[in-house]
Parts: sequence; structure tokens; C-alpha cells
Amino acid sequence: MNQDQINALRRMPVAPRGHLIDGKSVAASDGATLDVLSPIDGSVLTQIARGTAADMEAAIASARASFEDGRWSGQPPAARKKVLLKWADLIDANALELAVLGVRDNGTEISMAIKAEPGSAAATIRYYAEALDKIYGEIAPTTSDILGLIHKEPVGVVGAIIPWNFPLMIGAWKLGPALAMGNSVVLKPAETASLSLMRMAELALEAGLPSGVLNAVTGEGAVVGEAMGLSMDVDVLVFTGSGGTGRRLMEYAARSNMKRVYLELGGKSPNIIFADAPNLDEAATVAAAGIFRNAGQVCVAGSRLLVEAPIHDDFVAAVVKAAEAMRVGDPLDMNTTIGAVNSETQLAANLGFVETAKSEGGNVVTGGGRILQDTGGYYMAPTIVTGVTRDATLTQKEVFGPVLGVTSFEGEAEAVQLANATVYGLAGGVWTSNLSRAHRMIKAIRTGVVHVNTYGGPDVTVPLGGVGQSGNGHDKSLHAIEKYTNLKTAWIKL
Ligand code: NAD
Repeated sequence: MNQDQINALRRMPVAPRGHLIDGKSVAASDGATLDVLSPIDGSVLTQIARGTAADMEAAIASARASFEDGRWSGQPPAARKKVLLKWADLIDANALELAVLGVRDNGTEISMAIKAEPGSAAATIRYYAEALDKIYGEIAPTTSDILGLIHKEPVGVVGAIIPWNFPLMIGAWKLGPALAMGNSVVLKPAETASLSLMRMAELALEAGLPSGVLNAVTGEGAVVGEAMGLSMDVDVLVFTGSGGTGRRLMEYAARSNMKRVYLELGGKSPNIIFADAPNLDEAATVAAAGIFRNAGQVCVAGSRLLVEAPIHDDFVAAVVKAAEAMRVGDPLDMNTTIGAVNSETQLAANLGFVETAKSEGGNVVTGGGRILQDTGGYYMAPTIVTGVTRDATLTQKEVFGPVLGVTSFEGEAEAVQLANATVYGLAGGVWTSNLSRAHRMIKAIRTGVVHVNTYGGPDVTVPLGGVGQSGNGHDKSLHAIEKYTNLKTAWIKL
């Protein structure tokens, strides 16, 4: 990738987009559209279909029909593998186009988006394509007059609701294992980041995925997302997004067909720096990147920095220095390290959290405000607040923006107490040269992921999922396949 290629792509007009239903692009049943605003400068980029409940029902019916007639579920594993591998190749071949389109829509800096979006999506699809013909059923250890077989079957129709922060990566975490296992899928992209995911879905059809196996409906969560949640014909619902929506999805399932619901929700992840960290300068740089890249809109962002008291002041100074060295601005400039906040609403929410932190006694030691307002875009300076207490809003509530709260601690026991002081449990980090302490902390921290002497970066080979109110189930790794699979027992008298 080079800047000239990016500049050429950013100038391309973006055609309005319909839903993808039964292999065709279709308008909303009532013709309504939503304007897509670019967070880069606030301009109207294009329009997407503003879906209706009827549109969602049509997409689900198409997925159901495709599943029942076996056009995908009935294909031999080797045939499904071939299509998915071709899809991954097409994503790679169109990587820059996909990344720039996504950045114009959601504001992630291109230096991150190129790897985290098409790069990671292609790798994920390829991983599950390669896995799908290595998944065996089981024979149970029964008595000799019985044969007990355990079959692994697709679940049927999967509904996948995707957030705006990494639509391709998170979309692929759901689509890869769901399609590999032979399911049919209906996607619901986020209102403010539909474009690149819709394009990636189209590429699946170009790769040979039969019509109706992957459908996608754009529009408002409260309308089309709700229709998906309440459907009697969706078997499994997978979701990444906020806790509030996650709660609603569980209610929808209870009120409809009791579909299985898997939630990947937010976090308030502690990044814990002990005085014996192997390299405090590196820890400071990584801690800043771990909260500020993608303007803090990362589910595992290390949004709480817990620093051992003797190094607190020096370490905070080093993180402030690292934060101030990060370049905030045009996300399509390759030298930008922090792009735009996704929407004006999200920016206002972030600024509200800073005001609350101040009113609760926090000290803003850098950032704190909106910047680059003359561009028309939504930018915020990386913000660090010290003196954040255990009960403060910045400890307890997810911001999902470039705001880092800092708390000082004394010794391991207090670090663990603070780390586990929230309802969340998605990720955490520990920096220490003491191997025994590292292992004690891994066990003691109640989260789905613990980083040691690094922060961020686990690839598709390991599971990602939270505990507590960070959700249930796992994306990534072979474990994710369980969500998209039913076990069936055959008990045969010989
Ligand atoms: P959100 O919950 O508002 O929206 C997520 C998706 O849900 C969107 O597609 C939206 O249209 C849809 N939705 C909204 N209301 C709905 C409803 N009533 N019924 C059905 N669908 C509905 O969240 P967001 O603002 O898009 O994403 C940010 C949040 O997601 C943050 O809290 C963040 O921590 C979390 N997140 C978690 C992970 C993870 O892996 N755990 C990853 C990324 C983001």
C-alpha cells in the first residue's frame, strides 16, 4: 500500500447499497435509506438501505430455504473448503479497496485497518476453511452390543449482529466458523459501518458461495436487529456490541424460539504495571497503544492502567509522553496513529465521561477535549486521567473511546482486588519480570484473556471471549466452532 493508492481510492464515489438477499442487491421494502456519514469530515458518503422487519424476514426465509435444500450444508467438506479459500483470496486481492472503504465509513486509522480488517478477515476465513475437513465425530465407549455415535451437525440459520469498530474482522470471526460448518447466515452490520462488510459479503458470492447462504440486511438495530432477535426461524444468534443490546437479545430469544445467544460484550480491562516490569519504557509505549489505537474503540482496550505506587509518577509521565507523540488526524494518512471517533454521538459520550471523571476528583493530565473540529470530523485527543478511585465511573463504566484512567496500587493483593472490581471480564495485562507472579496473576484475574509483558495482538489461533458481563462463548480458534454446531447422538443396538 502507498499513499497515492489510498488517495485514489478515497476519491472514488460510493454507490448506494441495498441489502443482499438471495444473492441479489435489493432496496428496503418501503424504499427508505439511511445517510452514511464519514467520521473523517462529517460528509455524506452514500446511502444504505434502511431495512424493515419484512426485509429481515425475507433474508431469514432465504437463509432457511438455502439450508434446507442442502445447496451449501449438503456439499462435501472439500467443496465448501474450496469456496471459502477462494473467498479469502478475493478478500486479500481487494484488501486495500475494502480497508479504505471501511475507514471512510468508520474512521479507523488505515495503518491499523489494513492489517486488522481485510488482513485479519482473510486469515480467519482461511483458518476455518482449512479446519473444516479435519473435524470428526466421535464413537462413545459403550458396551459391545451398542454403537454410540456423536455426530456434529450445523445448527441451521445463524443470525450475526456486528458492531462498527472492526466490521470485517469481527464479521469474519462469526462468518468463518458458521459457514465452514455448513450453516446459512443472515448478517446485520452496524448502521455506521456497513459498507466494507457488505462488500466482503458480495465477494463471498463471487467466490462461489451459493445464493441465499449468506444474506445481509442493513439498517437500524432497533428495527432489523430486533426482527432478527425475535425471529422464530433463527437457530443461533451471535453478537458483538454493547451490554445493553446483549441484554435485549437474551430477552428476544426468551420471547421467541429460545434460540441460543452468544454475546461478546464490552470490557474495562486492567493493564497492571509492577515496578519490576522488564522494560518500563516499552510498557509505557504499549500501554498507550493498547488504549489509544482506533481511538480506544477496541473491545479489549486496556482502559484502566493500574500502576504500582513507587513507579506511579514516572510511569504516568512516560505514558503521557507516548500518548502525546501519537498523531491524531486523517485516518487515511498512513502516518496517522489515531483516527476518528466513529460518530458524533460516540464523541459526545466520550467527552461526557471526561467531565464526570473531573467531577469525581480525577486529574486530566493530557488531552480531554475534541480537536480538529474545523475538519468537520470527529476527533478526540488521547486523554489520561489520574487519581481514579475503585468506585469511580472511569473504573466501572466502559467508555469505548480514547480515555485512560490511572489508579495507583501497593502490592499484588491490591492489584488483584482492583483488577476484579468491575462487572466486566474481557481482558487484562500484567507487566513483571517475576515468572511466579505472572502465573499467580494469570490465575487471579477474572478475564477471558491475560496478556503478559505485552498488550493486544492475539491471533486467530486462540479464543477470545469474556466472563461476567463481558459475555459468553468464544470467537476465534477451533473452540468457536462449537457455537455453530449441534451434537447429535445415534444409539445403535448391534
Ligand atoms: P451496539 O450494541 O449499539 O450495536 C452493535 C450492533 O447491535 C449494531 O449492529 C446495532 O445495529 C445492533 N443493535 C442495536 N440495537 C439493537 C437491538 N435492539 N436489537 C438488535 N440489534 C441491535 O454497540 P456498538 O455501539 O455498535 O459497539 C460498541 C460496543 O461493542 C462497545 O460496548 C464495545 O465494547 C463492544 N464490543 C465488544 C467486542 C467484544 O469482542 N467483546 C468487540 C467490539 C465491540
